[in-house]
Amino acid sequence: MSATLPGGAAPDRYAVIGNPVAHSKSPAIHAIFARETAQSLVYERLLAPLDAFEASVAAFFAAGGRGLNVTLPFKLEAFALATRRSPRAEAAGAVNTLRVEADGALYGDNTDGIGLVRDIEGTYGTAIAGARILLLGAGGAARGAVLPLLERRPATLVIANRTAERAQTLVERFASAAAQAACVLHGGDARVASSAAFDIVVNATSGSLSGALPCDFTVAPGALAYDMMYAAEPTVFMRQAASQGARTADGLGMLIEQAAESFRVWRGVLPPTVSARRALRAPSQPE
Ligand code: NAP
Repeated sequence: MSATLPGGAAPDRYAVIGNPVAHSKSPAIHAIFARETAQSLVYERLLAPLDAFEASVAAFFAAGGRGLNVTLPFKLEAFALATRRSPRAEAAGAVNTLRVEADGALYGDNTDGIGLVRDIEGTYGTAIAGARILLLGAGGAARGAVLPLLERRPATLVIANRTAERAQTLVERFASAAAQAACVLHGGDARVASSAAFDIVVNATSGSLSGALPCDFTVAPGALAYDMMYAAEPTVFMRQAASQGARTADGLGMLIEQAAESFRVWRGVLPPTVSARRALRAPSQPE
């Protein structure tokens, strides 16, 4: 996908690197961003062998590439490879955005969490400040979401995970950020998910991939239930929340908002996301 200014220099090169990567919507999203912000760039898919992520990254930048998005299964390797990292990448323990700095450092950032926050607040008009939030899951996506959520100062953040120890580890890791945000943070196994009624429930498990409901939960009136996964049909988590009267959202908006933040990290301009959202929701768009 390319967007080149007439008569301009060769466009800057970007790519999403992963394995598999053929399904990625990122080229379509960034082509829209480039067009709308009149930026001259091309954005491609880069399939890296599972045992050659580092070599693939090195070759891309050596050939003049300007920036990479990193997707499964390489976000942890990207974190390790980065020689300079943003605070939110440090907090997430994973990197989804890479660029080379003027001094040659490989800079790693993580835009997933801010993508989630912008979608909840901007698209769904739901205040995180003061909210009672339930976060389901304690894997990479959940970990990346904790700090951006805390920075919006929710009243409580409860982390529920099938494996309780992983939720506890996140609680310990973010205890001081929670204290700074005056947020009550606790976690445990699935039982803590029905310990109270929540204003915002975020499903950051991969349960929806297999059609599994991660656990029972209770929503407050007017609650937003947000599944990080996106699919053509509402997930079982979304259907369960809707049956309790909650508004529901899938993770397509998060994907688009994280892409917009990556674009800003590379290009210094935050693109509008309305057109990308409209285009990717269109029935003709392959999933
Ligand atoms: P991950 O690191 O593998 O973590 C998976 C999590 O799901 C763990 O907490 C795991 O619990 C839990 N889990 C898996 N199957 C479950 C089940 N049947 N019942 C209950 N819990 C279950 O995966 P991830 O990278 O965090 O990704 C999680 C989801 O977020 C995926 O669906 C991914 O597509 C989505 N995501 C979306 C975006 C976006 O832009 N929209 C970005 C990132 C991720 P245990 O700890 O007990 O194993």
